[in-house]
Amino acid sequence: MDYEQVIAKIYEEVKPFWGQGKVADYIPALAEVNPRQYGIAVQTLKGDTYQVGDAGTRFSIQSISKVFTLAMVTRHLGDEIWKSVGREPSGNPFNSLVQLEHEQGIPRNPFINAGALVVTDRLISLYDRPKDAILEFVRGICGNDDIYYDKHIAQSEREHADRNLALAYFMKSFGNIKNDVETLVDVYCHQCAIAMNCIDLARAFLFLTDRGLNPYQQEQILTVSQAKRLGALMLTCGFYDESGDFAFRAGMPGKSGVGGGVVAYIPGNLSIAVWSPELNQHGNSLIGMETLERFTTDINNSIF
Ligand code: GLU
Repeated sequence: MDYEQVIAKIYEEVKPFWGQGKVADYIPALAEVNPRQYGIAVQTLKGDTYQVGDAGTRFSIQSISKVFTLAMVTRHLGDEIWKSVGREPSGNPFNSLVQLEHEQGIPRNPFINAGALVVTDRLISLYDRPKDAILEFVRGICGNDDIYYDKHIAQSEREHADRNLALAYFMKSFGNIKNDVETLVDVYCHQCAIAMNCIDLARAFLFLTDRGLNPYQQEQILTVSQAKRLGALMLTCGFYDESGDFAFRAGMPGKSGVGGGVVAYIPGNLSIAVWSPELNQHGNSLIGMETLERFTTDINNSIF
C-alpha cells in the first residue's frame, strides 16, 4: 500500500474544507493559532513514517492526553480505576456537569473532562512529581525526548479553568477526588498543553497498535487485555458526543482534542495522526474527521 500517495491525495481533496469549522476560543491561547494548518502522519508497525502538510508542526494535544494518563494509571491500578470512572459513552459535551449529579460524582467515562480529572487525581496520588512523570511517559512511548509543555497554553488554560474547577470540586463533594483541587487542575491543564506534532502522536499510539508493546523501549506498557480495553473505550467514547459517528465513518479507535488533533489506529498495522485546528460543532477537528473517514475508505482497511 502506497500510504504516501494515499495521504497526499486526501490532503488535496480535504484542504478545501478550510473555513467550514471554528478554532476553539474558550481557551484564549488556542484562539491565537492560525486556523489554516493541516498535517497528516502515518506510522506503520514495520517502522515506516509517511507525512504530508504541517505534520511536523507542534500543537496542543489537549484531550488526546487523556489516553496517556489513563494508560499510566491502568498500569499501576489495573481494574481499581473502574470503581471511580464509568465506561459508557456520555452522549454529552466533554465538559458537561449535568450527568455528574445524577450519577453521584462518578463520571461516565475517562475521556470526558470529569473522567480525566479523576484519572489525573489518581496519578497525583501515585507520583511525587506527576507533571514530570507524564512527560517522561509520553517521551518514552513516542521515542522523542524533546516533548515538553507549552507553558503559554498551560497558563491560559489555567486562568480560564472555571468549569474544570467546578467539575473537580463537585466530584470532591462525592468523595471521588482525593487531592487538592487547585493542584489537580494545574496538572490537568499541563497535560492538555503538551506540545506534539503529528509524527510524534502517530508514534505515541504505536504501543496501542502493537497490543500494549512500546516499540521504542521494547517494553510491555499495557497487557494485551488492557490495550484492548483502552481501544474499545476510544472507539465508544473518544470523540465526545460524536463518538458513534466517528466509529461509523472511520471504523477505528481514536481520540481527538480541541487543539484540532486526532489520532487513530488499526491494531497490528498502523497509526495515523491528523491535525487541523478548525473544529466542528462537537469540538472535533472538521478536517481531521473527514481525513480519517477517507483514509480507511481509500486503503480498504479498518478494524471491521
Ligand atoms: N483542556 C481542555 C479542557 O479541559 C480539553 C478539552 C478537549 O480537548 O476536549 O477544556
